[in-house]
Amino acid sequence: MADLAAAFLFLYGLKRMSSPATASSGIFVAGVGMVAAILASFLYVFDVVEAARPHLYANIGLAVVALAIGGGLAWWSGKRVAMTAMPQMVALYNGMGGGAAGAIAAAELFGNRTSGATELVVTLLGALIGAVSLSGSLIAWAKLDGVINKPLRFPGQQVVNAMALVATLAVGGLIVAAVFGIAVPLLSLPVWICVFFGLAILFGVLMTLPIGGADMPVVISIFNAFTGLAVGLEGFVLQNPALMIAGMVVGAAGLLLTLLMAKAMNRSIANVVFTNFGDAPKQKQGAIVGNLKPVQAADAGIAMRYAKSVIIVPGYGLAVAQAQQKLFEFVKLLQGAGVVVKFAVHPVAGRMPGQMDVLLAEAGVPYDMIFQLDQINDEFATTDVALVIGANDVVNPAARTDKGSPIFGMPILNVDKARHVYVVKRGEGKGYAGIVNALFYGDNCDMVYGDAKVALVAMIEAVRGLTAAAA
Ligand code: NDP
Repeated sequence: MADLAAAFLFLYGLKRMSSPATASSGIFVAGVGMVAAILASFLYVFDVVEAARPHLYANIGLAVVALAIGGGLAWWSGKRVAMTAMPQMVALYNGMGGGAAGAIAAAELFGNRTSGATELVVTLLGALIGAVSLSGSLIAWAKLDGVINKPLRFPGQQVVNAMALVATLAVGGLIVAAVFGIAVPLLSLPVWICVFFGLAILFGVLMTLPIGGADMPVVISIFNAFTGLAVGLEGFVLQNPALMIAGMVVGAAGLLLTLLMAKAMNRSIANVVFTNFGDAPKQKQGAIVGNLKPVQAADAGIAMRYAKSVIIVPGYGLAVAQAQQKLFEFVKLLQGAGVVVKFAVHPVAGRMPGQMDVLLAEAGVPYDMIFQLDQINDEFATTDVALVIGANDVVNPAARTDKGSPIFGMPILNVDKARHVYVVKRGEGKGYAGIVNALFYGDNCDMVYGDAKVALVAMIEAVRGLTAAAA
């Protein structure tokens, strides 16, 4: 019953996570489900016959210590993590999920507890996928965190990777043979199991090393799907419905997220895994005409105060500057002066899906002011001012027009069609894709150089000064 309740709470929680308005309660509901599943697992062991639980109390003690250490560390790091470091954190936790599934499989294999051929194959599959997810996610973490800052490539890499996978599967075959009493060469069964895990871990590393840091969020999402699958498979082996359902939910969510991210970037999964985003484009990028026109933040603020409509496009730089509160303060001033203000959020703005929605929600921006790309894109043409804050690639018109651009085909926010555009950024830094943005050189575009928070403070002061002078 507890497993069933946990499964229901996971699904209901996930459903609530699909809207920003109900997302935090969804996380809470799913968390309650997790507590129910953990409690049920603890209570279940009391129900197992005495002979099967020789060290029951010692084991429970160890599990409680592990939970306290893990839970404590998670609580502490979750409280401290900066919004911009969230992808790294997701990578780490995802890796641990894969590792946990691998550990269950290891316990089953070393304990020789799998009863039939199907169970054994499922255990090995879960072990393989879990181990790949563990090592791959750790490499993804290292790349996102800058510990590894270059894709590692060498000639024939795909062949080496394929060989590592084939070798892992072959050792898996040997393990199946050994368990069923067929004599296997060279090593004993436990050693072959170690070799199997070693190869699977190596494959995860090899598979992730050549992928550019820029693609890591998509890669993490792929590993997320892997982890879910591995957990689901081990749930099948343990005959634990909560684990099976949780695993499948995570697997399916990870897969859908991967597909959605790839679609929003107009790239295939194969393109993410096998090519490097931002590598020199095959064709020369289209020549950019025009000049960069710097203006003062205060002047931009005042111009927006006198506009009828403003659409704000937040991007990664807003998260870096942690300027979301100041942004909303500025928005409220504009609204007070009768300006219609909306937010336009691109599906891959920032460094992880939903990052901008979370950022804006954190500042208290009401959900009915936030619009997704397809809901708002046609409105730019009839809008007085588009304010781009710390965004770059997601507003680059080259995606629409320049076949030589690495982001060609990615749907973008049509900011360039607004009557006037202000772009807030620190300097001439490029976006994630590492390309120049033609928008900045357009006749209707002015650049407000500076950190987003500093620029917004200047805008707020200018508009306040205006109101005070009028009073
Ligand atoms: P970009 O990375 O394209 O651009 C961010 C801009 O912010 C930079 O040009 C930078 O310019 C500016 N910036 C950085 N810090 C600050 C600051 N403190 N104050 C003001 N400006 C700042 O971000 P976008 O959000 O436009 O695009 C996201 C990119 O990430 C896309 O290419 C997308 O494909 C990719 N991506 C997104 C994923 C997701 O899930 N969201 C996943 C994988 C990839 P300067 O240095 O001059 O300040």
